Amino acid sequence: MNCFQVYSLAMPELPEVEITARRLDSALRGAVVESALAPGMNVMKTFEPPLEELTGRRISGVRRVGKMPVIHFTSTNSSERRSSPRSTSGELALLIHLMSAGRLQVLEKRASAKDRASRVLVRLGDGRELRLREFGTKQRAWARLLASDVVAEDELVATLGPEAWPPPPLEALAAAVDQPRHLHPLLRDQRVIAGIGRSWVDEILWEARLSPFKQGGELVGAELQRLHSALHVLGDAIEHYERVIGDQLPDKLPMPLRVHRREGEPCPRCGATIEAVFFAEHQTNYCPEEQTGGRVLKDRRLSRLLK
Ligand SMILES: [Zn+2]
Repeated sequence: MNCFQVYSLAMPELPEVEITARRLDSALRGAVVESALAPGMNVMKTFEPPLEELTGRRISGVRRVGKMPVIHFTSTNSSERRSSPRSTSGELALLIHLMSAGRLQVLEKRASAKDRASRVLVRLGDGRELRLREFGTKQRAWARLLASDVVAEDELVATLGPEAWPPPPLEALAAAVDQPRHLHPLLRDQRVIAGIGRSWVDEILWEARLSPFKQGGELVGAELQRLHSALHVLGDAIEHYERVIGDQLPDKLPMPLRVHRREGEPCPRCGATIEAVFFAEHQTNYCPEEQTGGRVLKDRRLSRLLK
């Protein structure tokens, strides 16, 4: 079965969404929409234009903004006749947030009505289906249908910090992180820098030899330089996915992580034991030898204080 999907235990971040967007773009560009519907309760965060406006439109491309895939639909003659005056002018865009358990996939067959994981279904004229699915009990993934030319004005898009990859200029990164907040939550804040989440923040900080609990505003010149240089791990991950992932995205993306969730293993660089600090819903991993001056920060009370 021809199946494109994203699956990882962690929320898809910039490299995972980038490879998803690239593969979906190749698979979907030019396909015509037969119908679109949203079986997921509350998944659509917009009501005008309605999803029915996609009928008859052609998919003109799939791209990524931050951690969000965006699917663009150009109008065709048939859809223009059907469209309301407000949305006939140009393209529509489906902005999607996968949250932690969402997957965007192209399937050869249409979803069964019993598939409770289905959130948004875009049925294509050639029989395939673009499907937003979500696993687990919580429904967190969402989508917004917007005119393409106002995607940049969407509140979530407009407030994004600079994209983490390709890296912003050093000065832009320095300005963004100049805050009295620990690097671990700071770099995951999409308004500070876009695309980094709980997996890749550990990799970036390890690459930069910086403590997750150092404050952004405390970074000196050489540290800022290392943080900036370390963003290459995101580009490396995209290249890795390009090499190992074919036309069909596997169920679980083979994330090339070297420290995240690897507590107890030797640091790939210095051999010290990788440590972890556990929070309620996530963990951070680091090399104490190279990132925290030999200090092991395991204590949960300490970790709460540092959150
Ligand atoms: Zn190390």
